[in-house]
Order: sequence, then structure tokens, then C-alpha cells
Amino acid sequence: MGKKETITKKSPPHTHQGVNKVCPRLPPLPVKAPNYRRKGSFMNNGSTVTADNCPSTTTRDLWDNLFDGGYRADVTIKSDNGDIIYAHANVLGMASPVLRGMLNRAKSCGQKRTISIHGVHQDVVRVFIRFLYSSRYENADMKEFVVPLFVLSHAYNVPRLKRVCEEQFESGLMNLDNVVDIFQLSLLCNSPRLTLISHRMILRNSKAVVATEGWKSMRNSHPGLEKELLESVIEERNNQKEKVRKSKERKLYLELFEAMEALVHICRDGCRTIGPHDKDFTQNQAPCKYRACKGLELLVRHFAGCKLRVPGGCIHCKRMWQLLELHSRLCADSKSCRVPLCRNFKERIRKQSKKDDIKWKLLVKKILKTNRRGGSVSFIAPSNPISS
Ligand SMILES: [Zn+2]
Ligand SMILES: [Zn+2]
Ligand SMILES: [Zn+2]
Repeated sequence: MGKKETITKKSPPHTHQGVNKVCPRLPPLPVKAPNYRRKGSFMNNGSTVTADNCPSTTTRDLWDNLFDGGYRADVTIKSDNGDIIYAHANVLGMASPVLRGMLNRAKSCGQKRTISIHGVHQDVVRVFIRFLYSSRYENADMKEFVVPLFVLSHAYNVPRLKRVCEEQFESGLMNLDNVVDIFQLSLLCNSPRLTLISHRMILRNSKAVVATEGWKSMRNSHPGLEKELLESVIEERNNQKEKVRKSKERKLYLELFEAMEALVHICRDGCRTIGPHDKDFTQNQAPCKYRACKGLELLVRHFAGCKLRVPGGCIHCKRMWQLLELHSRLCADSKSCRVPLCRNFKERIRKQSKKDDIKWKLLVKKILKTNRRGGSVSFIAPSNPISS
């Protein structure tokens, strides 16, 4: 019995890293991983790919010819439908410790030993053995046989081929139809990087993937694994929602911070047509760099002219009162501050109920935190210039 059958009959482990942890970091690629894309040479009709660039083309051609011609071959490899491939024990034994063991145990018939590779199509066996000789494969073969080749690479312990298959999956051969199969295979074949990549693909496309045949058959064969995957899909969705909520919140705090900067700027320096009484605005026509200035200018004008002008009386005025209170809570030096009511609010804050105070303090904390992330200039110390 071929090694492959033993592998495929094993159940995928139901507890493993990567499924419940949403989007962990990818394990790094091996340092000396063959990168056929970067280093590979394309030969003959342009579709033959070499897994790495160590030996020369001539040497590889020689190995390919040795495989094709079977010169002094001493091994017969049988595949499922009786197809026979001739090979060399030395080459097979060097390329795969599993094959070496099989050859040691194989019965000899005259000069030749016979081994069998079952569970995959004869063409796959041929591509696999050729790879052991020359590290070469045809693009079309890889495209068609990448899944069984990956299984063989694991079963026969050929890390070079395994790496090539993993790269092929990563660079396009994994799709929504086969991603569930590849995910399960990656668990069976102990390929943590592929597990993470396929898991990410499942998370990103959960709706489509759940409808595939691969998912349905996993549901029947490994219901525990399906449950784990569904849990991770829900977790990922919740994470995405939380991300959106946080980003909206950050945006709001950033806007508030900018409004605070613009308020100090208007009250201290003046801008365009609005500002302190002692300022000459004919000189001050430079374009303003505060994004919130224009909106705030309108709000200040409204506040100055509104008949209601009481907290809760008009939504614009209410907003202005809130901004003024917020400023006062952020202001480090009310004595020299030119923002109206800054000192009055400081007085009022002292008498405020504890509940209100906690709410405001939380808001102030979040605004300051958002700003630290944005790296903007602080307006809190009035001695510092606003612009730099
Ligand atoms: Zn301005
Ligand atoms: Zn108003
Ligand atoms: Zn102030």
C-alpha cells in the first residue's frame, strides 16, 4: 500500500492553531526556499519550470534525459492502473527517504526492484518522479496536479516539491472551489503557512466558500472542523464590525481635536474676518491651514447672533456650548486663554456632578489619545505657537 493512502485516511486534527485565532501572522518562508518565479529558468517551449537555479541547464537536461531514457534503470515503479515507470534507485533514494525505505524493503526481480505508488493518477506519478530527477515540471502539469503533487511531496518527504506546491497555491492555484480541500490538506500535511493562507481566504470569502462542494463534503466528513471554521468566520465578522466602529470613533475624536485647534486659532490669532477685537483683519488674508476653521467660523457667527443662545435652545448653539466646555477642559492655562468663557467653564466644572464629570473626562482622554496617534501639534499649552 502506498504511503499516500495512509495519509489521506487520517482525520484532520480538530484542534489546531490558526482556526480560532483570526488572522495571525504568517510563518516566514524558509530562508533558502527555492523561488522558481524569481530564479527559475524557462526552457524548451517556455512552459517547463525549474524549481531552483543551482545546477546548470545542461546538467538538468542530462537528468531529464536520464529519467526519460531510463538508461540502466534498476527500479520499476507501478502506479494504480498498471502503468510502469523506470527509474534509478540511487536517484530515488537520495531524493526521498521514504522511497529509500521502500526500495530497501522491495523485492528484486533479476536486476530490478519494484515499488508501487498508489492513490494518484499515473501522470501525477510521472511528474513527481521527474521532479525528483531534475526539479523540473511543466506549468500545465503543475496547474492540473498541484493537489496530488502536494500530497505526494508530504507523503514521500520531498520538501523541495512541497515548497513549490505551496508557492503555486499562494500564487494563484488556490481558489474558492478548492480552498476548503487545501485547508484540510494543509492540516494533514503539516503546512502551517498554507493553513493560514487558506484560512484567510475562507474568512474573506466565507459566504461563497460555504456554498462550495468542498465545504459540503467537509461538513459530512469532519463536522468538528466545520464548526471551528464557522466560529472563526463569526469572530472575523465581529472583528471587522469592531474595526469599522473604532475607525468612525477615531474620526470623530480627530474632528473634535481639529475643532479645538481651530477655536483657539480664531480666538487668539483671528482668521479671515473673525477674531479678537484688537486684531486688524485687513492684513490677515493668508489661506487658513485649519480644516475646521471655516465651519467653526460659521458656528461662532451664529452663536454671536442667535436669539435663543442657551444650552439646549438651538442645536447650533448647543454644539457651540459643548465645544466651549470641551475647550475649557482641555485648556492648560485659562488665565491667559482668549477663548470666551474658558474660565467660567473651569469654575462650573468644579461644581459639576460626578457622573457628568466622568463622561467629559473620558471624552477628553479619547481626544488626546486620538491626537497622539495622529501626531498633530498640541494646542493645550497656550505659550506654544499653534502653527509650526
Ligand atoms: Zn482659520
Ligand atoms: Zn443658536
Ligand atoms: Zn482656554
